[in-house]
Amino acid sequence: MGGENHCGNGPRSDYPIRAPKPVGQYISQIYKSRIGQFYARGQYANENLLSMMNDAVVYGEPHVQLWVWHAPGQTRPTFEEAVSHDFEKTKVGASFGPSWTTHWFRVKITVPDNVRDQELVEFHWDANNEGLIWSEDGEPLQGLTGGGERVEWVLPKPFLDGKEHTFYVEMACNGMFGIGQGDLIAAPDPNRYYTVERANIVAVNPDARGLHIDTWIIGDAAKEFPSDSPEQHHALDVYNRIIEAFEPGNKDSLKTCRKIAQEYLGPDVDSHKVYESDKKPLVFGIGHCHIDSCWLWPFDETKRKVARSWSNQCNLMERYPELNFACSQAQQYKWLKELYPYVFERVKQKVKDGQFHPIGGSWVEHDTNLPSGESLVRQFVYGQRFFEENFGKRCQTFWLPDTFGYSSQLPQLCRLAGMTRFLTQKLSWNNINKFPHTTFNWVALDGSQVICHMPPAETYTAEAHFGDVKRSMSQHKSLDQDPTSLLVFGKGDGGGGPTWQHLEKLRRARGISDTVGLLPRVHMGSSVDDFFHHLEAKGDKLVTWYGELYFELHRGTYTTQSNNKRNNRRAEDALRAVELLATIASIEGHCAYPKKEIDEMWESVLLCQFHDCLPGSSIEMCYHDSDEIYKKVFETAEKILGEATGLREATADAVTSNTGVAFTSLPWSRHEIVELADGELAVASGPGPFMKLRPFSLESEETLVTLEQPSPDVFVLQNTQLKVKLESGLITSLYDLKANREIIPKGQKANRYVIFDDKPLYWQAWDVEVFHLDSRKELSTSETKVHEQKKHRVSVITKTKISDKSYIETVISLSACSPNQQSFVEVSSKVEWHETMKFLKVEFPVDIRNTEASYETQFGIVRRPTHYNTSWDMAKFEVCSHRFADLSEHGYGVSVLNDCKYGFATSGNLMRLSLLRSSKAPDAHADMGTHHIRWGILPHQGGLSHVTVRKGYEFNNPLKIFEVESLGDVKSWLRTRRVWLDSESDEGLVLDTVKRGEDDEKTGEENVILRMYDSLGGLARGRVKSVWGIKRVTKVNLLEDEVEEVEVDGDGFGVELKAFEVATYKLELDH
Ligand SMILES: [Zn+2]
Repeated sequence: MGGENHCGNGPRSDYPIRAPKPVGQYISQIYKSRIGQFYARGQYANENLLSMMNDAVVYGEPHVQLWVWHAPGQTRPTFEEAVSHDFEKTKVGASFGPSWTTHWFRVKITVPDNVRDQELVEFHWDANNEGLIWSEDGEPLQGLTGGGERVEWVLPKPFLDGKEHTFYVEMACNGMFGIGQGDLIAAPDPNRYYTVERANIVAVNPDARGLHIDTWIIGDAAKEFPSDSPEQHHALDVYNRIIEAFEPGNKDSLKTCRKIAQEYLGPDVDSHKVYESDKKPLVFGIGHCHIDSCWLWPFDETKRKVARSWSNQCNLMERYPELNFACSQAQQYKWLKELYPYVFERVKQKVKDGQFHPIGGSWVEHDTNLPSGESLVRQFVYGQRFFEENFGKRCQTFWLPDTFGYSSQLPQLCRLAGMTRFLTQKLSWNNINKFPHTTFNWVALDGSQVICHMPPAETYTAEAHFGDVKRSMSQHKSLDQDPTSLLVFGKGDGGGGPTWQHLEKLRRARGISDTVGLLPRVHMGSSVDDFFHHLEAKGDKLVTWYGELYFELHRGTYTTQSNNKRNNRRAEDALRAVELLATIASIEGHCAYPKKEIDEMWESVLLCQFHDCLPGSSIEMCYHDSDEIYKKVFETAEKILGEATGLREATADAVTSNTGVAFTSLPWSRHEIVELADGELAVASGPGPFMKLRPFSLESEETLVTLEQPSPDVFVLQNTQLKVKLESGLITSLYDLKANREIIPKGQKANRYVIFDDKPLYWQAWDVEVFHLDSRKELSTSETKVHEQKKHRVSVITKTKISDKSYIETVISLSACSPNQQSFVEVSSKVEWHETMKFLKVEFPVDIRNTEASYETQFGIVRRPTHYNTSWDMAKFEVCSHRFADLSEHGYGVSVLNDCKYGFATSGNLMRLSLLRSSKAPDAHADMGTHHIRWGILPHQGGLSHVTVRKGYEFNNPLKIFEVESLGDVKSWLRTRRVWLDSESDEGLVLDTVKRGEDDEKTGEENVILRMYDSLGGLARGRVKSVWGIKRVTKVNLLEDEVEEVEVDGDGFGVELKAFEVATYKLELDH
């Protein structure tokens, strides 16, 4: 038939004349819908690919025998302890609990003869909760997730000898994402039980498994490639031909199907060789496992998550040589080292082999809004030192994929800690504006830059789907500059990391790019540093972003878990004092520098700065833990201060001017009136660190402060600088007598409490949404009365009812002031807080006009709009602030100080300090109870200056009182300050930290480290002086590597810092 005719002289054609049969087009939506059927449970499960996945499944006795031992309470005993107990018989179908308990299973298996010679034999365990398989000898081997995910453990070859073998499963009664009651972020269900559903020996059919992944990816191509691309139609055709070729029960048909798949995937997808083609890749796959150090589970569970997750990665690396895995958080490595040395050694080997990459350079993946500048420094110091000590290498990339916004000095601190690169993607969660870049140079307040990359797949827990690879190009926003990107894949948040499925899918994605094209070519086998290395070559072409990477979500985290935040602030200040005094004491031979204890304190504080802990987004258990951690930090601080000084810390009312001395950790002179035992007033004055307490009456320069009550509900507090008028407990006038101006706008009231409905779209503890502002309600005060009427201070106390359960007692004070000090109104409040989804704030309308307000940030000041011109401006309706926020116009301004708060807003001329939230998830009791909060209203002539910066420090560091037998005992301490900036120095310079060299203990050297910064944003010059003999001074980086020799001139040396520069100096002492 056909081709029988030939007409004229044209070329002969064999093409049939008559159509032999009708041929139809694929009806796209029907053929696409069919795709899922090939591997679906349900009515076709016995006839589709699922029916052939396993060649044999063996369960029950005698092949699988189970015994169990229940760990008491919520304890998490070690392997040795667990296996020393008697185990009792149990079986599949039995249930274990309640929540947070641990159960150890002894498993004895005998692999039957018909399974022994199979290519791939696994043990499948699924109890819908997390577990860890241990060898009989106590080696942690493999983590288990449950719920069908990561349930398989490849049986070692020796297990296939037909004899009985023993291993253990440590069951944790929590899911990968905790135990939220009815919702991921709901408070944990305390009474969850888990059933062992599977304990099977499984002989896997490798062809069926391979075909499943083949069709998974080809099916995605058929669904996700554009319908106007031939590649999409090709995928649909291949997939349908595979379905037609499949015969249930016929193993040969699996091979035929896989052959058809090769038409689309190429021939190499069964090994890492698929990556060996020389075509240029654009997407660089990097395995990652985000483990929140605490979140919907406590720290102690994280320790086990680390062992589970990372042992799996080591196993996978053996099967998949292309796997490059990056993991951060030195703290987690340290836990592993201490608790799971076997896994740690495996990790170390994989680091050496170049597959496991410690990354990030920080102690934990910390929050960056709330920690102090020095805390950010120590995150790097402790992180980088751990990585260097244990793996011989520091990190080059700062890694914070999940943290809630990035403060403006991070690029500078990264550079000073040896890192030039930064990775995050969290800004893809912005719910107002889309961040416009994928790859760019991020520039700090001081002009320092790092290359920042935000993976365009917009996740750090990619499932390595076809779509993730595709989005790595389609959502790339910096294609003008560079089209490459990272694809960060692997189960995460609760741990896990890449699975074999991820790696198999990526091989096929690469196969598609090389065989049919269109999909951006993915590569495996290089590291994050390799990726950034190639970007650095074109660094000068990358666009720039100056200042903070403000996160347009999770603004509630500046306020939630108030007590925890307060502890953080107090601990940071305690550490400053401890390091200063321990440095002096150790240099002057009073005691050894307590390096180990200081390290422990810092590591504790740094751990609690983890990005779900300090921000307040963890479950209640985590805050019980952090309370204990901070308690220990404060106890250690007190102990070290006592040992370093030989003095005992006391409260002011326990000493007299003859038995007490005052201490300041701040590097400038202070002048304060202190009330001692029996109401004795004394003045502490001088540069510190210790000041004598002189009886107040000697102070001729002090002037009194007065309190008048012109009518029952009106009080007037006045000193030489300020006159404060209170009506019904609210400030209706704050008059600056020196500047001759009123600060409160006419008819308005300051220090007014307001309350808002606080029901964000979903993430309760995390978010406060823009619409909460619409629900503003003013709280009114009830009675106001005189609280204190003393020579040095007057105050009134007022009570504000919030609800039947909640109220505030507010003390508003004005103190006597000396002429060279700026006076301010001090407010201290006690809040009894028992609300639900309400947000408490306090407002200060001020008669100041500026389109920008200033907020203290780490080592500097950040300016943000006070208006809502654009959606970018409006997005900043709640922002982060440290010790002060300031609104100034030309020549005058007002600062609002605080002693433990971080949330603030300035809207027009209204300044608003955020006090307390009452979210109910994931901690159902967050912030309930009593709170003590202080703030201050500091008017000032001139713009924002060192006056505010210093007052912010002082407000947070009240003088500490130490008790002495007699003043003679502390003579040497009273002698003088030891190291300081001389009086000619620019006032914007802050000497923030004085400590010993990190390596002093090891090397026996005597080095003093000084960290200072320019706090106001302009060239700042100064001269450091010391009573200690200085042999040599070097400017060093944060890790204390020498960078530059500094000329010593007599008893000191000159310093010159550029705007917002952070500088560290190492002083080698002459002894
Ligand atoms: Zn996280």
